[in-house]
Amino acid sequence: MTRHFDAIVVGCGAMGSSAGFNLASRGVSTLVLERFGLNHDRGSSHGRTRIFRQAYYEDARYVPMLKRALESWRELEAKSGSALLTMTGGLMIGRPDGELVAGARRSAELHGIGHRMMTAREVNEEYGAFRLDEWLSALYEENAGALSIEACLEAFVSMGRRAGGEFRFEEEMTKWKTSQGGVEVATTKGDYTADRLVLCGGPWMTKLVGGLPLECERQVQFWFPSEGRDCLRVGEMPVFISEEEGGAFYYGIPDVGDGVKVARSHGGRPADPDHADRTVNEDDIDQVESFIQRRMTKLGPSVASATCLYTNTPDHNFVVGPHPDDVRVTVVSACSGHGFKFASVMGEVVADLATKRKSAYDISFLSPGRFAAGGRA
Ligand SMILES: Cc1cc2nc3c(=O)[nH]c(=O)nc-3n(C[C@H](O)[C@H](O)[C@H](O)COP(=O)(O)OP(=O)(O)OC[C@H]3O[C@@H](n4cnc5c(N)ncnc54)[C@H](O)[C@@H]3O)c2cc1C
Repeated sequence: MTRHFDAIVVGCGAMGSSAGFNLASRGVSTLVLERFGLNHDRGSSHGRTRIFRQAYYEDARYVPMLKRALESWRELEAKSGSALLTMTGGLMIGRPDGELVAGARRSAELHGIGHRMMTAREVNEEYGAFRLDEWLSALYEENAGALSIEACLEAFVSMGRRAGGEFRFEEEMTKWKTSQGGVEVATTKGDYTADRLVLCGGPWMTKLVGGLPLECERQVQFWFPSEGRDCLRVGEMPVFISEEEGGAFYYGIPDVGDGVKVARSHGGRPADPDHADRTVNEDDIDQVESFIQRRMTKLGPSVASATCLYTNTPDHNFVVGPHPDDVRVTVVSACSGHGFKFASVMGEVVADLATKRKSAYDISFLSPGRFAAGGRA
């Protein structure tokens, strides 16, 4: 007999695991389907750590969600007993009137986020990890830090299961369709029906939902040892983003246990999630090396690297909300390289849409309907 659920969530990465946890916690009978294992390395949620920050240069409309995200990460820590978020403070580095520094300042001032403007000289004196040129400035915010990816996903899944949710791994959804009675889902292991479907497929959203202008982009992250250099450890070095001349963005995370992480954001090649090039090549290394030689001269050669995938929209805002063709299908994706920090609150948004048909936040700017009418793959 075909099993029926109130909600089926497809994908158990950052967004799907949180959606599953939040739906189950509200008493919604929930099935989460994941084609690979928990914390696999083929999507967007791997590479040990992700930056959390609130003075959001991208768009001040994200800030109310980020304020709640911090609370809900802390609530998940208390519930699960796991340490998820290490506060380090955050530096946004660039020209004072550039996209990054001016945007972060705008969000901080608009939403009363504690911050301090710093000159290049002040940054160089206070933080031994950096060497900034005179023309640069920085915004420092306290409420920034590093999330441990694997611990976050494990906490969502174990707390979701405890709340009654069913999480099934190594089970791929092969087809979905809506009918008068609800949603029908076929997988590699069976068929299910549900009242609603939540699509959290990360890079595979390009294949799960038609009609959305999504593009996958290959990214590479690098790790460097911090031994013997206290300035690279938590307590001495904040997480950072740096907008370089010409518009390239780099970011980094201090050593929270497995080395300092540094990477370029965007500027990567388009990729198909099923056939992405996972080999790290000389070009990838050269880009990060040249940044390090300019700004982080205390770092030695890298000791590890990993490829990962962004799922981008043209405006680099997420896609979150009801499918344009059918409100029983919710789309949560295309985080364009900055979504992980929101996972805790996005699960709440999904649960609100399922149980109250509206969100507590203004998510109109993330609506799938802002693009041409969607269809299904
Ligand atoms: C290198 C890199 C650095 C980043 N840095 C930051 C950062 O510092 N701060 C930040 O906030 N964000 C950051 N991000 C972005 C953030 O990591 C992503 O936005 C987030 O992880 C996306 O989560 P997701 O659940 O949408 O996708 P994923 O985690 O990829 O999850 C999608 C899941 O769906 C599954 N799936 C797909 N199709 C099916 C199917 N048919 N059936 C079953 N399962 C399916 C996949 O296997 C996958 O597990 C970064 C991303 C990358 C790649």
